Amino acid sequence: MKNETRQPTSQRLEQEARQLDAADPIAHFRNEFYFPETEDGRQEIYLVGNSLGLQPKITRDFVLQELDAWQSRGVRGHFEGDFPWMPYHEFLSETMAGLVGAQPEEVVVMNTLTVNLHLMMATFYRPQGKRNKILIERQAFPSDYYAVESQARWHGLDPAECMVQVEPDEGQNTLSTEKICQAIHSHRETLAMILLPGVQYYTGQVLDMQAITQTAHEFDIPVGFDLAHAAGNIPLQLSDWDVDFACWCTYKYLNSGPGSIGGCFVNSRHSGNPDCFRLAGWWGDDKATRFRMENQFRAIPTAEGWQLSNPPILSAAAVRASLDIFQRVGGMAPLREKSLQLTRFFRDCLEQRLPGQVEILTPAEPAGHGCQLSLQVDLRDIPGKAVFEQLESAGARTDWREPDVIRAAPVPLYNSFQDVFRFVGELARIVDGP
Ligand SMILES: *Cc1c(COP(=O)(O)O)cnc(C)c1O
Repeated sequence: MKNETRQPTSQRLEQEARQLDAADPIAHFRNEFYFPETEDGRQEIYLVGNSLGLQPKITRDFVLQELDAWQSRGVRGHFEGDFPWMPYHEFLSETMAGLVGAQPEEVVVMNTLTVNLHLMMATFYRPQGKRNKILIERQAFPSDYYAVESQARWHGLDPAECMVQVEPDEGQNTLSTEKICQAIHSHRETLAMILLPGVQYYTGQVLDMQAITQTAHEFDIPVGFDLAHAAGNIPLQLSDWDVDFACWCTYKYLNSGPGSIGGCFVNSRHSGNPDCFRLAGWWGDDKATRFRMENQFRAIPTAEGWQLSNPPILSAAAVRASLDIFQRVGGMAPLREKSLQLTRFFRDCLEQRLPGQVEILTPAEPAGHGCQLSLQVDLRDIPGKAVFEQLESAGARTDWREPDVIRAAPVPLYNSFQDVFRFVGELARIVDGP
């Protein structure tokens, strides 16, 4: 009986997936990526681009081009060729800025995410007297949490006293904007900085960055966002929202490879101000006089003024390859449109094939989510972790977060509606049994 009712639903959804794929104007970008394969040679159902984005096929050539330049030109590679290394990071700024809604001079690709968070806090966390607190979420990603804790200690302060931690209301999965703004209001006299995620890594919730920034600025509190799960996932308007700073990595939705170089945004109100304190290095020094070696630091009046070192070119080449694809697909607008359709279809499949058996932590309204759905699949007879492990064995790649969440993110650049259909099929097989 169970099977008789399940079959038609499955067939109807499969047909819908095929139709949606056929009508998808950016479907062909899937062919620009390598998909890992299972042991028996099938393409994995890869829904874990929120953890490590897939490798674009062009990346190899972009990286090899720089290895070749090094091989044939040696040190002259800094100044010669189509993409000389001296200004290499500049080739990335415009497209990267477009993805986060910033001016090119507000964005620089440098270092890695947690390093950039520290560099930004060196500038924006300037505790003075009783204005020494940082607002953060209690369930922040551990690296962000440790970075904030250690910043407090570094200033000789007790983290327990200067971290204001916001968390969802009792019985809620996600943070309300109202609650965050209330916390800002209650601590307006003592907050020195705010650090929050653009997209919360565990629940996939998108925070209202504009409202939070506006409230913080009423009390002159600088605001920074960790965009690890937001960059390349949702449309952002960092300049218009007047965010003070933001940092993100490029190996999640930006497909630039494990540990690749990160992105950083410094609002032009600050980046144009050479007197703005920063931890300095020679690559942030004025390009015209940098090589005079005079030990006279003149900060570049853009986000580049926060650079410390000459950047890793092989990693930056992978970023350039990825940005080439983002540019050709037409930026975030077409991606967001498909992403919303993918998650809508994902929810439909879950509701119809597994009614009442999966709880979705991620907010349902479009403004509240990006690609990722965070699923709680804790059934009486099979624990969530076992469900996750069986998905892995079936070649359905997601990620597990303790205590009980499976995060699955259909990525519009390379995932299809049929990927979503197949994933839910595997999940249903595990939950319903053979
Ligand atoms: C992925 C992620 C990190 C990782 O930091 P790295 O410095 O790149 O290792 C940090 N914070 C958040 C919120 C993340 O999602």
